[in-house]
Amino acid sequence: MKINVSEIFGSNVFNDGVMRARLPKAVYKDLKKTIEDGRELNPDIADVVANEMKEWAIEKGATHYTHWFQPMTGITAEKHDAFMYPTGDGKALNEFSGKELIKGESDASSFPSGGLRATFEARGYTTWDCTSPAFIKESPNAITLCIPTAFCSYTGEALDKKTPLLRSIQALDMQAIRFLRLFGNTTSKKVYPSVGAEQEYFLIDKEKYNKRKDLTFTGRTLFGAMPPKGQELDDHYFGTIHDRVAKYMEALNLELWKLGIAAKTQHNEAAPAQHELAPIHDKNNIAADHNQIIMEMMKTVADRQGLVCLLHEKPFAGINGSGKHDNWSMVTDDGINLLNPGKTPHQNTQFLLLLTLIMKAVDEHAGLLRASAACPGNDHRLGAAEAPPAIISIFLGEQLEDILEQLDTTGEATHFIKGSRLESGVDTLPNFRKDATDRNRTSPFAFTGNKFEFRMVGSSQSISDPNVVINTIVAEALCQACDELEKAENFDLAVHDMIKDIIAKHKRIVFSGNGYSDEWVEEAKRRGLPNLKNMVSAIPEMTRPESVALFEKHGVYTETELNSKAEVMYERYSKITNIEALAMIDMAKKQIVPAVIKYQTSLAQSINQIEAACPGMDTSVQKRLMNDIAANLAPLYEAMKKLEAEEKIASKIENAKEQANYFYDHVFQTMAEVRKPADALEMLVAKEDWPFPSYGDMLFDN
Ligand code: ADP
Ligand code: MG
Repeated sequence: MKINVSEIFGSNVFNDGVMRARLPKAVYKDLKKTIEDGRELNPDIADVVANEMKEWAIEKGATHYTHWFQPMTGITAEKHDAFMYPTGDGKALNEFSGKELIKGESDASSFPSGGLRATFEARGYTTWDCTSPAFIKESPNAITLCIPTAFCSYTGEALDKKTPLLRSIQALDMQAIRFLRLFGNTTSKKVYPSVGAEQEYFLIDKEKYNKRKDLTFTGRTLFGAMPPKGQELDDHYFGTIHDRVAKYMEALNLELWKLGIAAKTQHNEAAPAQHELAPIHDKNNIAADHNQIIMEMMKTVADRQGLVCLLHEKPFAGINGSGKHDNWSMVTDDGINLLNPGKTPHQNTQFLLLLTLIMKAVDEHAGLLRASAACPGNDHRLGAAEAPPAIISIFLGEQLEDILEQLDTTGEATHFIKGSRLESGVDTLPNFRKDATDRNRTSPFAFTGNKFEFRMVGSSQSISDPNVVINTIVAEALCQACDELEKAENFDLAVHDMIKDIIAKHKRIVFSGNGYSDEWVEEAKRRGLPNLKNMVSAIPEMTRPESVALFEKHGVYTETELNSKAEVMYERYSKITNIEALAMIDMAKKQIVPAVIKYQTSLAQSINQIEAACPGMDTSVQKRLMNDIAANLAPLYEAMKKLEAEEKIASKIENAKEQANYFYDHVFQTMAEVRKPADALEMLVAKEDWPFPSYGDMLFDN
């Protein structure tokens, strides 16, 4: 397929170029100002914008429009309305008014709200977020105009992930501008977080997927013995991309480019059948919308090609899980990246203060950051036996750490480690300039040159929650600094003292060693850093008095919204664990146990037949095999019974927090007891008798 990028890129987006070309000049200017200032749309121009948007969409073949929103489920929702409007004479016209563009009403009672919406007030409102452009979603059978919207209750509480994100972007902007003015910048008008989310995913064959109830019901395997080969040879990471996957990536890129999503980098990841896609970073709000579209498109395109895209954080035990590296920086409207250290970082006071303020923010609110990456799937990636610990720390790189060290000990930074030249040793390759900021793959919050990379986020999560937290905690650190510096008599001295003071107080959060080692877990404990190992223990961080005060101060969440959010998370944990437990019981009962018994019977028959045909013949192998099987079958059955009982108890608990805790302490733990003997049995029973595809079949045979 030959792709003309300049022709197709953004061709399905009602973007700035389209608006400029199609809207009357005055309307365009007004709208543009609204977008730039993040204000509400002027109702006087709404009809004109709506009409033009409709005409454009109809030219693209659209018959329907939808207010596209992001409820607290973490995925997107849409309700389609036709443009069609009966004219009363038996005919119909296409209509789309400004009112319909700006505001939609939808029955919100089926979306999680954590008790925010009393049942008598089931209405929810969607309002156009004109900072994110409308786009056309094409599928073979429907073409729809999608209007990105925020979703609120009748009384204005956020029922979605977008509203708090927009609020946090505003909060950060306000404080960052204060900060810049102090340092003499009078020209930048806005500061916004710029975000690039690297998306990891697995791709497997649809036929095999369909044979596994665990995958179809829960998105992850609940059983599965390790194949002879895992990822130990490191031969998949950056390996050659096979034809079937290359074809998928090409089709996916095409769809994303049409939607103006700058999908840029793609490669094979560490685990077999695991891949990654990274778009070019963009304004936080747009990046969050784009990431939702990317996830959806990944699934859709896979489905068209007989594949399934798994976005679960841990689809397969024993090999790497999938995450989403949230690259975050602060950029001004006139293009200055505030996280750019410049030529000699130790002279760059503004940068150093910002950096240390981020250190302070992360140290003071580590629990909140951790909670923002909490989802049931991520519990298998963070803090579990084979995964990195769930401890937040910052990696700054050798050069910056050296500068902080100098400041901490002598109060001055007089020299810095220059980016040394890295000899590649191959004549035909140029010598790379080694990035003095270096890399540390095991750090959950790493400074990578001109941005921070938050690596805890799970692959299936919306990036809104983690960015809401990053934006807000940085806004708060900036606010505190500005409060003090605006009063300072000697600004330079005050900045200097502040940097030194922050380093002394918060250097415990900086760690450059191996974040996956047991020693780090011990060391972090000594430093007093929190280690919240699972989702249910992380959720309470959001509703601590300090968190409520922080979010209320910056107008990001009200206490009610935080409580409801926590409630939604507890419910989600319980529901997902419940589905997993039921799927596990179902597979064990109806597939594994019968298959094992069938195999046992065939072994028994074989023994009888051999002994009848050749009396005295050695059948000890069959007998030993039968013993091994029996030794695992009984524990499997016991554990299964226990799981059934625990699930029953758990599902009757009414308090959301108590219930989630019970699910974690009892149901989740028992699931491991069921899995162990079942995986052992998979290694004992003949391949053709095992009731579903193995790890080897799914990961290596595509
Ligand atoms: P790596 O895997 O080495 O971290 P990738 O190219 O896979 O690098 O992804 C890096 C991501 O970071 C991309 O999405 C990129 O656009 C984004 N990025 C680069 N610079 C910035 C920045 N200043 N702010 C936010 N994101 C950035
Ligand atoms: Mg990457």
